[in-house]
Amino acid sequence: MNRIGLTGLGAIVRRPFFLVFVVLAAIQVIQFADAGNAADLAELGVLAVLGLAAVKERGQLAVAEGTRRADAENFARILRRLSNSVSPDAIVTAIVDELGAASGSDHVGVVRRQPDARSLEATVSSPRTGAPPSRTYLSLAELDDPGRRDQSLAAPATDQRIADRVAARLRSDYGLHNTLAAPLRIGGRVEGAIVLARRTDEPWDERAVRLLEGAAAEASSALTRAYTLRDAEVRAATDALTGLPNRRSLDEYLALLAQRRRTDDRIGILMIDIDRFKDLNDTFGHAVGDHVLREVAQAIAGSVRDGDVPARFGGEEFAVVLRNPGEVVAHGVAERVRQRVAELDFRRFGVGVITVSVGVAVAAPGETDPVRVVDQADHALLAAKRAGRNRVAVA
Ligand code: GH3
Ligand code: MG
Ligand code: MG
Repeated sequence: MNRIGLTGLGAIVRRPFFLVFVVLAAIQVIQFADAGNAADLAELGVLAVLGLAAVKERGQLAVAEGTRRADAENFARILRRLSNSVSPDAIVTAIVDELGAASGSDHVGVVRRQPDARSLEATVSSPRTGAPPSRTYLSLAELDDPGRRDQSLAAPATDQRIADRVAARLRSDYGLHNTLAAPLRIGGRVEGAIVLARRTDEPWDERAVRLLEGAAAEASSALTRAYTLRDAEVRAATDALTGLPNRRSLDEYLALLAQRRRTDDRIGILMIDIDRFKDLNDTFGHAVGDHVLREVAQAIAGSVRDGDVPARFGGEEFAVVLRNPGEVVAHGVAERVRQRVAELDFRRFGVGVITVSVGVAVAAPGETDPVRVVDQADHALLAAKRAGRNRVAVA
């Protein structure tokens, strides 16, 4: 007997129902061969019909089981990809890739609002063609639910209705045909949708609906996690009082510059310290001191160009990293900072003119360590203090 025959026998032995059925059929055949009467033939017929029905039923069960397993595997793959995706962009890419492959749609669209963004970002890709995804921006109004504004619409606002509206918008913008949509909920509210589209009119079956809803729910929590994490990172890098980058992120930035700097890419550093700030705190109180710190920080940030990085170095001391300044330019920026601060008006607190001292250093040719430039600027700051404060000194 060949391998398949042996396997078949094993299968029969493991299934008592099948074994009983075969024995019954054999008895029936023997009886019919013996007596040849019509009743035996009829019983044999009934047995044959029963047997065929059982085999068909088994086949259908196996197909359903296979479908369920494939659905579970698709979903598990989506989950794995999502849990490996830390950034929101990586999450969106994962959804598009995996849903495209698993749902058999011609287009997958992800529409989402970034935290604090004033528009919706739509990413639409065609998994079948493998063409790069296209990205457009939609109005935030797409997330408004008409039912909420128009009281004549009695139906309660539903997240699904918003998702369907977004899908309608993608249909008209991208010429999509037959769509299926599920809402993306970020931090408990609808902030976008996932939209599947196909070119044919073939209705979406329950499998596709289940897959999309599961993927949308998982993507929603992955995006919520990613945004929360990013929020925490921004908070950890920012000084809470002034909103400027804090000492930690300044150090990280300088370390990055040390790795990347080419010899023609030099930095300049300003070290800025408020004059006699302790006296101000002692006279007017810490709260007034905090107001002054905030406004001085704004004046510094407003005095430098976009590519320059101002930071709170600690206490009443600030630093600015200038990219590629000549010495004259660096000195000019320092002087501008000093003047801007001196022009701030604190009369509402009964406080007079606030001044700062500034130390300036520009990296010498071949100097690749930004920390040494910071030290030089610090020394120059000390010299400015010794020379009487409210002035700029160059290292
Ligand atoms: P100098 O002109 O030599 O710089 O004198 P100074 O008084 O500014 O310098 P000193 O280092 O003696 O004092 C700095 C003061 O800054 C002391 C500290 O209480 C105050 N300070 C540091 N951080 C904060 C803050 O977050 N808020 C307030 N209100 N004060 C702060
Ligand atoms: Mg000071
Ligand atoms: Mg100080």
